[in-house]
Amino acid sequence: MNDDDTARMPYQLPFPKDAQEEIVIPKAMSEDDRLWVPQAENVWFRPLCLNRSQGYWMNLLKVRKAGVLSRHRHPQPVHGFVLKGRWHYLEHDWVAEEGGYVFEPPGETHTLVVPDDVEEMVTYFQVNGVMCYVDPWGKVTGYEDVFTKIDLCRKHFAEVGLGESYVEQFIR
Ligand code: FE
Repeated sequence: MNDDDTARMPYQLPFPKDAQEEIVIPKAMSEDDRLWVPQAENVWFRPLCLNRSQGYWMNLLKVRKAGVLSRHRHPQPVHGFVLKGRWHYLEHDWVAEEGGYVFEPPGETHTLVVPDDVEEMVTYFQVNGVMCYVDPWGKVTGYEDVFTKIDLCRKHFAEVGLGESYVEQFIR
């Protein structure tokens, strides 16, 4: 048997019995409002993977014109990929544009805004650990972590009729 014979042969062994199930979400950019969990005025997130075992979450963040993602500090890194629109932080002079990638190092404190000429932005974010909402001088006023995200999803999915257990498919 040479390499050519096995190139398209699937892996033949069972997966580890303790491995978790994969998550597959077709059409994650869906316009179905029920799937987008409100988190502030004109700000929504769509959960993709709520990883309670490692303490991070992957989500699509949607911000419509005039929406603001309130000032917050990240003690841990964040990765972002802009899928639609454009946005910037009040604390930086660069602009994140559709198709662009952003790495936010631990220690970042920022406030996300969408420019007036953009109707809506959608960005895929991986947020690790916790985000601490702060006042302009760094005093903590609140926080979010994977558990508060899960709670927000439960409440929202129950309210829109999908049932609070709808969130479970995104939890690992
Ligand atoms: Fe952030």
